[in-house]
Amino acid sequence: MTYAYDPQNIFARILRGEIPNRTVFENAHALAFHDINPQAPVHVLVIPKGAYMSLDHFAAEASAEEQAGFMAAVAEVCRISGLAPGFRAIANTREDGLQEVPHFHLHILGGRSLGRMLP
Ligand code: 5GP
Repeated sequence: MTYAYDPQNIFARILRGEIPNRTVFENAHALAFHDINPQAPVHVLVIPKGAYMSLDHFAAEASAEEQAGFMAAVAEVCRISGLAPGFRAIANTREDGLQEVPHFHLHILGGRSLGRMLP
């Protein structure tokens, strides 16, 4: 599969500093920030700094260092956000997944019981 990346997507613009964000954590390979329209008391988006349009793109083509840095950011977000009682991680992907922003992002949702995964 080939993955097309649009460098004008909103998260690419956040990474370039063109649009502000409420940063939760940042390292060399990932940025985590509060979702602008939170669906739970905790709703953080973790994104890689590289140009990957989806989870499968990132998993297929990101380096081991990028993948490790991303997962380290996920761990920090969970720690900082007090998610010991649990959380949900979601990566909406392309059309069937109703992905709106074509830069890979992992939603980290928590802070309350989240109900069943799908309606
Ligand atoms: P998707 O449907 O692509 O999985 O989710 C995109 C998410 O990005 C949505 O939850 C939406 O609220 C969030 N979002 C869209 N634009 C912005 C923005 O400019 N800033 C922030 N922090 N979140 C955004």
